[in-house]
Amino acid sequence: MDTLYLVIPCYNEEEVLPETAKQLLQKMNALIAEKKISNKSRIVFVNDGSKDRTWEIISQYHTENPIYQGICLSRNRGHQNALLAGLMTVKDHCDLTISLDADLQDDIDAIDAMIDKYYDGNDVVYGVRSARKTDTFFKKFTAESFYKIMKHLGADVVYNHSDYRLMSRRALDALHSYKEVNIFLRGVVPMIGYPSDIVYYERKERFAGTSKYPLKKMLSFAWEGITSLSTKPITLITRLGMLIFLVSIVMLIYSLVRHIMGATITGWTSLIVSIWAIGGLQLLAIGIIGQYIGKVYLETKERPRFIIKTYLDDETNSESAHNLAK
Ligand code: UDP
Ligand code: MG
Repeated sequence: MDTLYLVIPCYNEEEVLPETAKQLLQKMNALIAEKKISNKSRIVFVNDGSKDRTWEIISQYHTENPIYQGICLSRNRGHQNALLAGLMTVKDHCDLTISLDADLQDDIDAIDAMIDKYYDGNDVVYGVRSARKTDTFFKKFTAESFYKIMKHLGADVVYNHSDYRLMSRRALDALHSYKEVNIFLRGVVPMIGYPSDIVYYERKERFAGTSKYPLKKMLSFAWEGITSLSTKPITLITRLGMLIFLVSIVMLIYSLVRHIMGATITGWTSLIVSIWAIGGLQLLAIGIIGQYIGKVYLETKERPRFIIKTYLDDETNSESAHNLAK
């Protein structure tokens, strides 16, 4: 039986925490009783610099029942960092983790299916929303456009998957080798490349409290995702530069023809041609410089160049190694 740690980032969640803690405890006890997970499994709350009583509540739960653990960050660092802090702190104590939001919008009954898929040999199991019935039209529209734009701009994210996700210890170790500071977990986890699967669930309404992701945070989150995963915007600038430069050649021919036909006033031809040519060349030059900056940017991330899944060495076949030695 493997040990499961649930990791839950919490920012000003005093209103939902009691209910969340209660429901998660029931879930964990049921899973332990079914012998799906070991009784060393834990529920870990990460307090992301909350300004309300969140941390007091977490500490109190921990004293009452050691199944609850708490991690307190020095200040608010945002959802992604809080989640990463939790995962990296617990990874050496468990065999698998599941990350979920404190507001129970992600159906916790999907946990069973996730664990089954883990025992089937998957290192990562993504929770994916099958429907967004309870989200407002605005939230649904912005969120779904976000996934589409991300994909278009070269960031490989799982459609309609937030951070409700199972990860094995092996996958967490791989994640640990991504040293980048601007980490966007939803984009980096698929890069790891270990076997993965999907579990569908219906997203519920926030149980209590308000969303900690107002539009402003959502936009900056989307921008963060794009700029930390992809250098495609730079390529777009280079292409635009090339396009405008080509237009300038067309304009050159066009205005020469007009000039020869005598249908222009003095100075028009040279003016028009230089405006287009200079503009195109400038954009092109910025794009080319950008390409190099993009490379430097990717280098500074020091991402792992490969992650080894299996190595068939002497140990995996000790008998033949023994024979060779003879
Ligand atoms: N959260 C966090 N730090 C923040 C903002 C949010 O740890 O700065 C946590 C929050 O407590 C919740 C999760 O991230 O557990 C998702 O936030 P929320 O439910 O407000 O987002 P939504 O579901 O509205 O997108
Ligand atoms: Mg939520």
